[in-house]
Amino acid sequence: MQLQVMHEMSLAINIVELVSAKAQAAGGQRITSVELEAGKLSGVMVEALVFCFEAAARNTLAEGAFLEIREIEGRGNCLACGHSFIVDSLLGQCPQCDGYAVEIVQGRELKVLSLIVDEE
Ligand SMILES: [Zn+2]
Repeated sequence: MQLQVMHEMSLAINIVELVSAKAQAAGGQRITSVELEAGKLSGVMVEALVFCFEAAARNTLAEGAFLEIREIEGRGNCLACGHSFIVDSLLGQCPQCDGYAVEIVQGRELKVLSLIVDEE
């Protein structure tokens, strides 16, 4: 449990550093909103990340910024029959042929999509 929190905390610090650098480069004074894309297979706990983001953003340009997280469904392609389907774990099983040779094609991403910067 502690490891999980630390994982989200280091992610949150990375995100704050990234968006602060971007806002600074754009000449902004304050970040009002950050939009993030998080795959359901990325292992990120959304609530923990929001909590850690608020803590990590203190005394930075991102202090008080709203963190909007878009969750992306996991999707896998069956290597045996070519079926494409929603998966909720990295060890997905093909619902069509019951095969386990599944290539995860979506759901592991974690990236900043956009941010809104206040220039005043
Ligand atoms: Zn299959």
